[in-house]
Amino acid sequence: MSENKPYRILLYYKYVHIDNPAELTAEHLQFCKDLGVKGRILISEQGINGTCSGTVEQTDAYIAHMRANPLFADMVYKIDESEGHAFKKIFVRHKKELVTLRYDKKLDPNVRTGKHLTPVEFYEELQGDDVIIIDGRNDYEYDIGHFRGAIRPTVESFREFPEWLRKNLPEDAKNKKILTYCTGGIRCETLTGVLLEEGFSDVNQLEGGIVTYGKDETVKGRLWDGKCYVFDERISVPINRTDEDIIVGKCYHCGKAEDRYINCADDLCHRKHICCPECEAEHESYCAPECKVNDEARKLKVVSGR
Ligand SMILES: [Zn+2]
Ligand SMILES: [Zn+2]
Repeated sequence: MSENKPYRILLYYKYVHIDNPAELTAEHLQFCKDLGVKGRILISEQGINGTCSGTVEQTDAYIAHMRANPLFADMVYKIDESEGHAFKKIFVRHKKELVTLRYDKKLDPNVRTGKHLTPVEFYEELQGDDVIIIDGRNDYEYDIGHFRGAIRPTVESFREFPEWLRKNLPEDAKNKKILTYCTGGIRCETLTGVLLEEGFSDVNQLEGGIVTYGKDETVKGRLWDGKCYVFDERISVPINRTDEDIIVGKCYHCGKAEDRYINCADDLCHRKHICCPECEAEHESYCAPECKVNDEARKLKVVSGR
């Protein structure tokens, strides 16, 4: 990291049993508020999953605080530099599970999960002849960037994955090498658990996720096409740091190569769609003509008090 920007964005998770998650959630929220970091942090009996932003001093203090807690002492942080906060507020929430899946079996990544591959190992396996590469994210994340050759999961929410896997992977996939990846690694911890439960035998996951792969000095993001969707105000980040970097998304309106997402200006629609700056201006950020009509009719009602 040579840019020396004044802020940092942290991304981290750790599966570790927490005795009293509700209590820790309240304490942690107060700690984050006092410190001034912003972001979204989930705490459950299974561990912690978070992303937050702050000045270099604030994020250093956050990491030091977590390292002083034996539960989180060895937690790994993906760190990005930034010109400012990447979140507007701080949320620390107590959840039943860190990652929600519609699945009938109990999954514990500390007991059963796919083999972790380093970025270099993953890069080598990506080039294998008979590998099945599964993008462990949602369809809209895949659409602006993914590993070359990866299967696009037609899921809008992670919890749909088990059903999608059952319906969409060929029976002979069970004996093939499976590679999975997600943004920071946490979704693959349970996704590979499902694959093992379902009878797939050679199940591998990208350790540290796409963001770690993009920072690796050896692979430099090779074989990644497009951008990586992130759940903060940046929306997406570059991964491939070679001259192979390309745009894979297409403008929802005109089809031109584009990878920026906007939300439909109609609050009742709010559809997330890829849109080029020209079409955004032309369509006034609406995803469809009827959204403009509906939105304007609603605003008119409010003004006239009807
Ligand atoms: Zn366009
Ligand atoms: Zn719309």
